[in-house]
Amino acid sequence: MHPELDPIEKLARLGNVNAYEPAGDAPQSERLAFDAGGGIMSCIAHVTTPHGKKPVLKAMVTTACEKNCYYCPFRAGRGEMRRVAFTPDEMAEAFDRLRRAGLVEGIFLSSGILNGGVATQDRILDTAEIIRRRYHYRGYIHLKIMPGAEYDQVVRAMQLADRVSINLEGPTPERLSELAPKKDFSAELLERLRWTHRIRQRERVRADAVTQFVVGAVGDTDLELLSLSGWLYRQIGLRRAYYSAFNPVRGTPFEDRPPVSPLRERRLYQASFLLRDYRWDVEELPFEQDGNLRLDVDPKRAWADAHLRQAPVEIMRASRDELLRIPGIGPKGADAILRARRKGRLTDLSHLRALGVRAPERAAPYILLNGRRPPRQLPLQSR
Ligand code: SF4
Repeated sequence: MHPELDPIEKLARLGNVNAYEPAGDAPQSERLAFDAGGGIMSCIAHVTTPHGKKPVLKAMVTTACEKNCYYCPFRAGRGEMRRVAFTPDEMAEAFDRLRRAGLVEGIFLSSGILNGGVATQDRILDTAEIIRRRYHYRGYIHLKIMPGAEYDQVVRAMQLADRVSINLEGPTPERLSELAPKKDFSAELLERLRWTHRIRQRERVRADAVTQFVVGAVGDTDLELLSLSGWLYRQIGLRRAYYSAFNPVRGTPFEDRPPVSPLRERRLYQASFLLRDYRWDVEELPFEQDGNLRLDVDPKRAWADAHLRQAPVEIMRASRDELLRIPGIGPKGADAILRARRKGRLTDLSHLRALGVRAPERAAPYILLNGRRPPRQLPLQSR
């Protein structure tokens, strides 16, 4: 620990400790946006927030931890980890200085667990209180909820923050116990996610709730991950499930396990959007025999290949739900088609592009326009 250091120097020593913890709405681009220059800039990521894309400080109150999650660089007893700790005053002051210097416009605050989840949560909340009250900051704050945090602490976090995250890590209690033997899936984590739903219904709070899964370290399947994600979207109004492809960390019990392809992460996000934004049921997703999605094709197209190639959808008659099944057509495109066909006939791919459908050629193999299959490619003058 380095209590004597200036807080900004301490932050620089922290580095990009939260590289794999998404802070906003576009987790994959967020990770890539880290500044490779080191120093304080390695704690700052360009994050898509509800208020637009912003540089956000990603920090931990402490990198010391008493838990022993098998995949984590901060696990108790991992010798090669340099530990850093901040008081709430230090962290809040460091954030305020960076903000006044024009370097950040938001903060994502996490922590290792010291003296239990409740005491750790208090340090996170105290930091956020100081940032809001002493420094009168009104912008983006994303706070982690610690395993075992109390109900009133979750309420306070949701009053102070724009977003809170409670990471389930695994999709079932059994998977979690293989990843993190000292965490309790139901009592410490899932229950707190349920609380966020209740709190949003009962209290005046500004925050939504998200969760994250470590993907592929312990044999978890896409079916398991997406079944729970779909349930969380529908039952507790989860804003977002994040999927973090497992990467082995030296000096942890999982150091010899193979890394998971980022492509798997991408397919999970695509399927997750189908559940959340397109209202698909998890049973409709095109899983393979082993419970995973294909890596070589996006899940919407895999479904369309199986169901629509031989039975294309007539654009002039399809319902909104049917339009949303077609690759290349999203919610905005479907709504534009519904409006436009009340006024006239859509007979050509160029008509779809003119309506704002970004990739009508992707839709071409699965649709009929005025009873006819369209050519696959748009004529050059229509592009
Ligand atoms: S509780 Fe968090 S910081 Fe601690 S070992 Fe587990 S994942 Fe890492």
